[in-house]
This record gives sequence, structure tokens and C-alpha cells, in this order.
Amino acid sequence: MELMKDYIEEAEKALLHTYNRYQIVFDKGEGVYLYDLNGKKYLDFCAGIAVFALGYKNEEYNQALKNQIDKIIHTSNYYYNVPAVEAAKKLVKVSGMDRVFFTNSGAEAVEGAIKAARKYAYLKDGNTDHEIIAMEHSFHGRTMGALSVTGNPKYREAFQPMIGNIRFASLNDFDSVLSKVNEKTCAIILETIQGEGGIHPVEKEFLSKVKALCEEKDILLILDEIQCGMGRSGAMFAWQKYGVKPDIMTTAKALGCGVPVGAFLMTEKVAANSLVAGDHGTTYGGNPLAAAAINKVLDLFEEKSIIENVNSVGTYLEKRLDELAEKYEMIETRRGMGLIQGLVFKVPVGEIIKKALDAGLVLINAGEKIIRFIPPLIITKEHVDQMIDILDSCLQ
Ligand SMILES: *Cc1c(COP(=O)(O)O)cnc(C)c1O
Repeated sequence: MELMKDYIEEAEKALLHTYNRYQIVFDKGEGVYLYDLNGKKYLDFCAGIAVFALGYKNEEYNQALKNQIDKIIHTSNYYYNVPAVEAAKKLVKVSGMDRVFFTNSGAEAVEGAIKAARKYAYLKDGNTDHEIIAMEHSFHGRTMGALSVTGNPKYREAFQPMIGNIRFASLNDFDSVLSKVNEKTCAIILETIQGEGGIHPVEKEFLSKVKALCEEKDILLILDEIQCGMGRSGAMFAWQKYGVKPDIMTTAKALGCGVPVGAFLMTEKVAANSLVAGDHGTTYGGNPLAAAAINKVLDLFEEKSIIENVNSVGTYLEKRLDELAEKYEMIETRRGMGLIQGLVFKVPVGEIIKKALDAGLVLINAGEKIIRFIPPLIITKEHVDQMIDILDSCLQ
């Protein structure tokens, strides 16, 4: 115990205090389990915030990274590299989009998406006052552009002014979107399933209407799949479940399964009429190491039938969570899809999460009253049972 305390004390002296962290130092992982510095074992239903889809210490993934490290880690985007070519081809194939730009994080993917949308509109009419419609309770990242479209005023307040010309509408309320549209609107951005905002899936009818509106007015639909994408919903990207294709989409989190990567992708129509050489760039984005991670992740998703597993275990997780919701008066409802689920409580969930951690179960919240379940995508029904047993005992 002392060892963890010492590190935590040192951390609080040296690191900028921007997180209220749980008092745990994680040391290693294996499969769906994490171990802290004292060797205590935890069942992980957080997966590094929807990142570690393949579980920890995946031998094939680790070996692919080691091989790439021994070959070359970085070259810069002045040149081509083989892993990036392979990763781009694979990502284009599974997404059904046409072109990809690799970034280092989710927020950067959102930044790129915003720039592409603004450039697209600029090339049409030469104006520089285009507007973007974003959703209340959305989360798109902490950089200035991504923050500007994040529908949480508390996150934005101290950092005003934002990038400007952003209007917020209510998710699943088409009239509210319609009331914000005008001739300056260049894009509508939303998460197919809101993550941080409390696990709110978009409704099919709403998304279809937004898509039709976008097509009618040549507004670009940007779907943020950073959290709900990469198989978690039961489709590779959640929009594929709805059959509503975006003009631009973002991905990150599980895309690299632990190596910091992201991407924004677009249709050929947008690609041919937006960003050109010199418009956008990044030193690291899509470097050989990052791209090797993406390559192996996409291969393993296919080889290990990850999406099939999400669909079968996800259905089971829903059933078990519904039972808990039925059993406890303090639980209001369950929301979600596949392996991105939320239990909505009538009370703050902070204490429950702390109890779960003590009992060896890693959970996180999504807002004050919602427990979020975003486990590695390789979990089995037995892991779900284990998780439910621990959570059940904590609720008692
Ligand atoms: C996490 C997240 C982001 C930001 O990604 P970072 O890698 O933390 O910058 C953006 N959008 C959504 C939906 C997210 O969940």
C-alpha cells in the first residue's frame, strides 16, 4: 500500500492537477484484468475509456509493435510508409468511406473534420462565416475547436472565446436542429451514440431526417465515432447499424488499442472539394508505429470475430443490467447498444464506483448519475456475470 501512496504523492507534486484520479496505480494487465502495484487484481469494465478493445497483453498485437519498433518508428509525412498505406486501405474498407487522414488523438480528428467542413463550404461560396450545428451534452474533445462543438457549457466557460459560429441543438429533436439551420450552415456534428454525455444513442428517425436535411442543403454530416465506433455498438461503426452514412467521420480510442492514434475519414465528394496540400498536417499522424498498431488491430478484429462477440455478449450484458435495474429502486433505466451501456441512477454514482474498485471491479461514470460499461470487446458472458455479482454486492 505504501508504494502506491508514495507514487501518488509524487504524482500530485509533479503533474498538473487536471484530473481527480482514483487512488490506484495500475501496473500491468492481462486479458480483461488489470493489476495495481500491490498485485491486486481488477476486472476491467472501462478498458482505458473504450480503448483496449482486444484486452491487455495481446501477444500478436504486442509482437507486431515490437517488430515495427525494430524496423522504424517514425519517418514524417514528407515520405510514404508501408504500415500507413496498409492501415489506410483497411480502414477505408471497413468504414466504407473513401479517404483517411491519421491524427494522434480523438480531439485532433475532430479538429480535422471541422477544418474539412469549413473548407468545403468556403470553396462553394468564398464566405468565411459558416456555421456548424452541434448537440447539447455532446463531447468531442478538449482542444479549442473540439471544445467549441462540445455541448457542455461548464467545459467551455473559462476558455472563451470559442472558435465561433457554433449553434447547439438537442439530440433526437429534429425541429431543434431545423431551427438552427440557415444558409451559413456548413456541417452538423454529432456522436452516433453520445458517450461522455450519458450514453444516449441517436434515434434512427432523427438521424435519417438529419441526413436528408444535409443532402437537401449540401450540409456535411459529421459523425463522431471516437467512443462508440470500432465494433463497440455491434457494428464496426455505429452509423452502419442505422444505415446512415456520414460525409465525414472521426475515430480514435480503440483504433490503436492503446497506441495514441485517431483518424478522420471522408467521402470522395468531400475529399475532392476540401483540404488540399498545405491545408492540414501533423508531425506524428500515421507514423509507422501508430499505423502498425492500427493494422494489427483491424486484422485481429476480423480474425477474432470481435463484432460477433460484441453482439452476443452485448445482448447478455443488456439482459443482466436490465435485471439490476428491475431489482433496485435507485436505478432508473438502462441505455446503450452492444458493449457501450449506461445504467442511469437516481443518485450520484461516485460512491458506488469507489466501492466497486475496492471490490476489484473497474467502472467509470458518464455524468454524475450514470455508470458506464465499456469493457474490452473480448469479454465473455462469464465476465459479465462476475461484474454483475460484484456490482450487485456493492449496491446492497
Ligand atoms: C474521447 C472522445 C473524444 C476525444 O478524444 P481524445 O483522444 O481524448 O482527444 C472525442 N469525441 C468523443 C465522442 C470521445 O469519446
